[in-house]
Parts: sequence; C-alpha cells; structure tokens
Amino acid sequence: MLKSTGSWFFSLVVHLAVWATYLPAIAIFPALSAQKEPLRVIAFGAHPDDCDLGAGGLAAKYAALGYKVKFVSLTNGDAGHQSQGGEQLARRRRAEAQEAGRRIGIEYEVLDNHDGKLLPTLDVREQVIREIRQWKADIVIAPRPNDYHPDHRYTGVLVQDASYMVIVPNLVKDAPPLARNPIFLCYSDRFTRPQAFRPDIVVSIDDVFQKKIEMLDAHVSQFYEWLPWTTGSFDQVPKDVIERKKWLATQPMVVRMASPEWRDALEKRYGAEAARIQHVEAFEITEYGRQPSEEEIRKLFPFFPDKVALP
Ligand SMILES: [Zn+2]
Repeated sequence: MLKSTGSWFFSLVVHLAVWATYLPAIAIFPALSAQKEPLRVIAFGAHPDDCDLGAGGLAAKYAALGYKVKFVSLTNGDAGHQSQGGEQLARRRRAEAQEAGRRIGIEYEVLDNHDGKLLPTLDVREQVIREIRQWKADIVIAPRPNDYHPDHRYTGVLVQDASYMVIVPNLVKDAPPLARNPIFLCYSDRFTRPQAFRPDIVVSIDDVFQKKIEMLDAHVSQFYEWLPWTTGSFDQVPKDVIERKKWLATQPMVVRMASPEWRDALEKRYGAEAARIQHVEAFEITEYGRQPSEEEIRKLFPFFPDKVALP
C-alpha cells in the first residue's frame, strides 16, 4: 500500500516535471505563430541594396529580438555602375552586401543572375521557391510587380508566382514544402498605376535609423558612386568616410519619413505615440499568402504599444 502511494506520488512529480518542460514552448508557440522558432523572415530584392532600402530598419529590429532574417538579391548587380561592370563589379557588390548584412546581424545572399536582364522564368521562380522553403519563412517581403525598373518588376512577379507554390509538394522536390503558406508583404513604393501602395503595416524605425544608415553605408559602389552619378549629384558626395555617411542620412533616396497618407495607419497601432514618429518603413499585405488577423499582426510585429486597443 505504502509502496503504491509512493509510486503514484513519484509518477505525479514526473508528469508535472515533464509538463513544466513543455509549458514555455506551449506558451511561446501560438504567440509567435512561426513555422519554427524563432520567427523567420526572408526579403527579396532585384539588386544587392534593394532589400536594405525597403526593409533594412525592420530587419535590424527583428535581428535585435533574435529573429532570423535573410536578404536575397536575385541578380548579382553586375550592371550597376558607371565605370565598372561584369564579374569584378559582381564580386564587389557581393562583398558589400555581405558586409551590410553583418552590420545588422542578418544573412545576405546574392544570386548569380545578371543585372538588367532578370526575367520571370520558371528557373528563377524555382530559385525563389527553394529560398523561401529552405529558410522556412513565416514572412516573405518583395517589391510590388509595378515599378520603373524591369528587374524590380520581375522580382515582384517571381515572388508573387512563388507564393502558394511553396506549399505544393510536387514542385522543387529537393526542398521540402512548407507546412503552411507564409505571409507575403510588399515594400512601399510611389507608383500609382494600376493602384497605389496600401500601407497595411507601418513600423517606426526611429530606434534603428542609424543602424540602417550603417547598413546602407556598406554599399559604397551604390550610394556614393553609382546612384549619385545617375542623378547628377556625384560631385556633391563628401570624400571623407564619416562626412559621406552623414550626407547619406539626409538623402531622399534613403530616408522614408512618415508621410501624411501613412498617418492613419501609424495612429491605428501607435496611438498618441504616432505624432512623434519620423522614420518609418511601410508594407502592404498581398492577397496571395496567408491573411493574418489583427491579433497575429501584433504578434509578428511586436513593436506596437500594448495600450493601443485592437480595432
Ligand atoms: Zn534595384
């Protein structure tokens, strides 16, 4: 009798200990809604610096929380310079991208498709599907498929065409399909036809603005050479490395301010704090991936003040 009571008690203690081990995981899993812990984010750009401009601040915020972020450039950037090109430029830009990723604590991969020649082929679509699956992405970010640059436009098309296909087991058999479709977001842009960008999620990046500038500063060939050359401002770039970084932080090509048309979206989640926010990154939720509830958005973007009630 005594022995049996003891074994019952021992069994209870063992069960409680086992449950106690699982409790934190049970508590965290629904809170993050992730494919795999921690939350995993992948962003695509056409060129090695596109993701940085659209989501460098968001990536820095996620990285600071210990989330896993990867930027992927679909082309090697071998056409983006006024006096360099080909393999030599591709090597330089790959090194710049890797340094940019290192500065904010994320991975950066540059694929070897040629710059200025990207097409929405089945081959590149499969590269995109493979990247999303291998990263086990919960959130995927890409340009919208309307843009002045064909490489940007086709990057948008390629990622749009990969959404949904990432869960189809009969495709890209060397990379196991995802258990569920990620959320697909687009970077903000200024194009209005056939429709303007819709600011579904606007995130303050004031706390990481300097970090974003550090990241962009790694792309020397772009922000201090090629882009100023295309806009006729090459002569205005300071020669000193400290001065040029200060200059970069003032340039409209890199600074995204909280514009009046994004104020409602900011106030919706930041409440009264919205009035003090200066630098932002904004995203549109596409119709083709999983559609998150407001509650899930707040878990996937854990930056908004708790006191602002859910609408
Ligand atoms: Zn680009």
